[in-house]
Amino acid sequence: MAVLTAAAPLEAQPDTDEGLPSLAAYTEGMEANPGYFPFYWDGRGGRLLLEIDRWDEPFLYLTSLATGVGSNALGLDRGNIQTAHVARFERVGPKVMFVLDNPRFRAETDPTETLERSVEESFLTSTVGGFTVVAEEDGRALVDATSFFLRDVVGVAARLQAANQGTYRLIADRSALYLPRTRAFPENTEVEASLTFESERPGGEIQRHAPDGRAMTLRQHHSLVMLPDDGYETRRFDPRIGVFGIGYYDFGKPFDDDYQTMLARRHRLVKADLSAEMSEPVEPVIYYLDPAVPEPYRTAFKVGGEWWNRVFEAAGFLDAFRVEDMPPDMDPMDARYHVIQWVHRTEAGSSIGPSFIDPRTGEIIKAAVRMDSYRSLANYNTFAGAAGVDGDWYAGAPPGVDGEEFVMMRRRQHSAHEIGHTLGLAHNFIAISDGHASVMDYPAPVVELRDGRLDLSGAYRAGPGAYDTLAIRYAYASPPPGQDEDAFLSQLLLEAQERGWRFITNPDAGADNSHPDATWWVNGNDVLDELERVGEVRRFMIDSFDERAIEPGEPMHKLRERFAPVYFHHRATYEAAIKSIGGMEYRYGVRGDPEPVTELVSADRVRRAMELLSDALSPEQLAIPEEVLRILAPRSFGWIGGGPSWSNRAGPAFDQIGAAATVASEIVGGILAPSRAARVVAFHARDPTLPSLEEVMAKLVDDAWARPVDGAGGALVRSVQDVIVDELLALAASAAATTESRAAAEWGLRRVQARAATVASFDPLGDARTASSSAHSTRLVGDIERYFQRPWSTDQGSEAPAGSGWARDRPVGP
Ligand SMILES: [Zn+2]
Repeated sequence: MAVLTAAAPLEAQPDTDEGLPSLAAYTEGMEANPGYFPFYWDGRGGRLLLEIDRWDEPFLYLTSLATGVGSNALGLDRGNIQTAHVARFERVGPKVMFVLDNPRFRAETDPTETLERSVEESFLTSTVGGFTVVAEEDGRALVDATSFFLRDVVGVAARLQAANQGTYRLIADRSALYLPRTRAFPENTEVEASLTFESERPGGEIQRHAPDGRAMTLRQHHSLVMLPDDGYETRRFDPRIGVFGIGYYDFGKPFDDDYQTMLARRHRLVKADLSAEMSEPVEPVIYYLDPAVPEPYRTAFKVGGEWWNRVFEAAGFLDAFRVEDMPPDMDPMDARYHVIQWVHRTEAGSSIGPSFIDPRTGEIIKAAVRMDSYRSLANYNTFAGAAGVDGDWYAGAPPGVDGEEFVMMRRRQHSAHEIGHTLGLAHNFIAISDGHASVMDYPAPVVELRDGRLDLSGAYRAGPGAYDTLAIRYAYASPPPGQDEDAFLSQLLLEAQERGWRFITNPDAGADNSHPDATWWVNGNDVLDELERVGEVRRFMIDSFDERAIEPGEPMHKLRERFAPVYFHHRATYEAAIKSIGGMEYRYGVRGDPEPVTELVSADRVRRAMELLSDALSPEQLAIPEEVLRILAPRSFGWIGGGPSWSNRAGPAFDQIGAAATVASEIVGGILAPSRAARVVAFHARDPTLPSLEEVMAKLVDDAWARPVDGAGGALVRSVQDVIVDELLALAASAAATTESRAAAEWGLRRVQARAATVASFDPLGDARTASSSAHSTRLVGDIERYFQRPWSTDQGSEAPAGSGWARDRPVGP
C-alpha cells in the first residue's frame, strides 16, 4: 500500500564532517543497548544517546502513561495509551528530525508519484523532535535524545489545564529517564521517563491524589517499533456490523465514490492450514494478565477472556485466543505484548479496552485493557441493596447466588467486554433486547421476583452471545475455498438480518435518542413489558430494604449507598420507555438490505409508554416507607468520599421528596426534551394516529393534577407537579425547541393554570395546617403568569435535583 512518506527528495547522505567523532569513540565507557534503535546510556551525563541508521524508514511510534493520577475525573490512568503514529527520522546536514507522517490522507487508488506528492503536499506532517548529530560512522549517526524523551508527550499539563486543575509546567531538574523500563529489543526500543510537573496553585483533584499537589510526578512511555510486515491483509469496514474501523481519505478515488475510506480493525490472525475448516492460527493472540489482579477477580477475568476463544472457534480457529499470567518482569507498556492491567482510582469509573492500531492498515498492534478495581464495590452495592448481605436474606430465602458469585458474574462479562473492544468490537447497545446477543452491551443485572422472593441467579450472562460470534466471524473468518471475501462478508451480514440480530452503537443509545431498544443497562425483549416488570421488582426491593443491607458494625450511612440502586432500579428502563415517545427505530443500512432503515414506533406503543411513565410518577411508586427513611442516616464522623451522593436539599436528613423529584425530572424532562418534542410533532404530521405533542402534555398534566395534593402522598404529587411546570417552562423557553414545541409547551402551561385553579381555593387567611396544597397551587399559577408576562431565559430551567447513574452499575454523584 502506498503510504505517503518515503518520497524524500534528498538522499539521506550522512555528512562526513571530519569534526565529528566515531560512534565507538564517542560512546566509550557508556552502556550499549543494541536493538531496533540501539541506544547508549551515558551514566555520568544522564543522557540517552540514540543511534539512527534507518533514514526515512517508517516505524511505529507509540506513547503511553506508565503511571497514573488515580482520579476518575481526569482519566490519567496507569496504562493509558495514546494514538499510534507512523514516524521516521530525516536528516539534513547535522540535523536529525523526528517526523510523524500523515496516513490519514493518501492516494491509494491508482496511485502515481505526482498524485501522491500532491496529497502529501496538501496536508501536514508533524516534526516532533529535532537533534544534532554528535557522532557518526558508516551512515550511522548518534544523537542526544534525552530531552526528546523527557517531554510531556502525553500532554498531561494541557489536560490538567483543560480540567481546571492548575497551570502545571514540566520541571527538568526533577525529571529523568526511568532506566528499569528503558530497553532495546530486535524489533522495538522502549524508553520511559519520570516527569515532574509543578504548579503553585494545584487543583482539587491533584491535591486529593498527590502527597503534595504542587509537585506531580508520573511516568510516560515511548515505544519505537518496527513496522509490521506486509503479510497483514486488510478487511473492509461495514456500518452494519460492530467492528471498529480506521478512517482515511483516499484522493485517488473517482468522483462517484467517496474519498473517505474505512478499514476494519482486527488482529493478525491467520489459519495455519488455510484449507481446513478448523485450524490453529499461525500465531495465537495472547493477552497477559497483570500479576496484581487478585483472586477471585483473576479467575473471573480469565474465564471472561476464555469466552473469546470459544467465539473464535465459531470463526474457524482452534486455540486462537489465550489469557496468560504476565511474567513479573514484563513491562506492560512494551509494544510487543497485549496486556490486561489492574487500575485503581478513588471512585468507581469505567474500565476500558483501547488498542494501538497500525494507522495504515487497521491491524491491532497492542491491546492495553484497563480493569478498574472499584467497580465491584458498586456491583456489590446492587447485590446487598437488593438481597441483604451474606446469609441474612431479606426475603428469607437465598437469592440464588451469594454476593461474591453475583459480583464475579459481572466481572466475567466485564473482562469479556473490554477484551472484546481490543479484538476490534464496538458496543452493541441493542443486543440485550435481541436476547442478550452480545457481551458488548452494558448489562443491567436481571433481578427476578419468583414466588415472593428475589432471584439473582441469572443476573448476568454466562458466555458470549450470538452477535459476538457474528462480529468475530466478520472480522476474522476467511471465506470457504472458492468464495470471494466480499461476497462472503455480505452474506454474513444478510444472514444476521434474517436472524433478526441488530446493531446500534454510540452515540445512538443516548437518552435523547429515539430508539427504545438501544438503551444502556436495560434488560428484556420489550422495554414496556420490562418497565412493568422492573416496577414490581423495585417496589418489592424498596419495601424489603432494611439495615441487613450492610454488615453488623458498618456505619449506618452506608445504607444510603446501598439504597441508591434499589430506588433507581427502573432508571434505565424508564429511559428506554421514554424513547418510545417520538420513537423511531433505525438501522445503519445500505441499499439492498431486506430490512427497513427506519420505522416509527406504533401509536399503541407510544400511548402505552405514556401510561406506564405516568404510573411511574404516582406517589405509590415514588414513596419510600417510613421504616426505610428512619435508617438512612447522615454521613458518619471521619468518613472520606466515595459512594453516590443523593440530592440533599433537606440535609442532613434524607430528602425523600428530592429523590422523587429526581425520578420525575428525568421522566418528564426526558419526555419533553427539545429533540423528542420536535420528533413528536414531526411524526404526528406524518401519521395523525400518533399522539400530538399536546396529547403528550395533556396526559402528563391531567394525570398529575388528578392525584390528591393533600394527604399521605400529597408532597410527592406536588413535587411531580412542580417538575412538570419546570419542564414545560424550560421547553417553552428553550432555544433548542422548535416553535411548534414551544407553542405546545405554552398550551400545556395554560392547561396547568386551569387545572391548578380548580384544585385549591387560594385563601391566604385559610387554615395554616392544611394550606400546603393551596400555597403550592398559588405559586404554580403565579410562576406561570410571570412566565407569560416576562419570558424566562433558558438558564432558568428545572430546579429539580440533578443526578445520574444510580441505576447503572457504578455509583455516580450529581
Ligand atoms: Zn465498552
